[in-house]
Amino acid sequence: WGFRSSQANAGRRETCMEPLFRIQRVTKIYPMGEIEVVALREIDLELPQHELAVLLGPSGSGKSTLLHLLGGLDRPTLGSVFFHSTDLARLSNAELTQYRRHRVGFVFQFYNLIAGLTARENVELVTELIDDPMRAEEALDRVGLGDRMDHFPSQLSGGEQQRVAIARAIVKRPEVLLCDEPTGALDVATGIQVLEVIEQVHRDIGTSVVVITHNAVIADMAHRVIHLSSGRVADVRCNEHRTTAQELVW
Ligand code: ADP
Repeated sequence: WGFRSSQANAGRRETCMEPLFRIQRVTKIYPMGEIEVVALREIDLELPQHELAVLLGPSGSGKSTLLHLLGGLDRPTLGSVFFHSTDLARLSNAELTQYRRHRVGFVFQFYNLIAGLTARENVELVTELIDDPMRAEEALDRVGLGDRMDHFPSQLSGGEQQRVAIARAIVKRPEVLLCDEPTGALDVATGIQVLEVIEQVHRDIGTSVVVITHNAVIADMAHRVIHLSSGRVADVRCNEHRTTAQELVW
């Protein structure tokens, strides 16, 4: 697993095991008037390429803050967030926008679809912004919505809307898919369907995936499980055997 073990191997192997993200002594402080909220405290973490990682931890432990730093939605107060060899903390605002636009797909708990546009049009909005996107139809096929492309969000179930959001995230062929509580608003069966789609994207397109969840059961489908507690990494565990989304029970 991962970078540390690959360092024992010489030459090319080491290069191809370069981590996707390397977080070095990252602290994030939110100023709140007179007081400061320390959301992350001197975190060190490596996330290898092509893995499916799960971030677990109680509410307020810093999961969303960490995901936002990985996605270039915010910057650390101190420390470095390397994406390959680029320190995101040192990029200009324009460069950070380019990074978000071309390299990262985001999926949130609430789907943020535009109500007046069909599924296909919601996905096409993204394709207009970038070079070499997937066709909107292919992205919607991949999430199992090939026959619902011309439906409006109000004509789709919650799980289907989340799958449109995933299609919108993957249509740009992102290197990493960042998901913040993607099943948080869904019932169990629908949540599992959405996780199956995320698993399939990871497998078929080779996208690295980071998923925030409150639900410890979901960790069984990950390669790597990172526990956050009070803004620190409390534990990192690698699953020797992963459970498929379909086999998860909660
Ligand atoms: P989690 O995702 O694990 O629930 P967060 O990363 O959202 O945790 O929050 C970590 C801490 O930072 C919490 O104490 C939260 O209240 C605080 N926090 C998060 N975002 C902001 C913000 N924009 N302004 C001020 N405090 C924030």
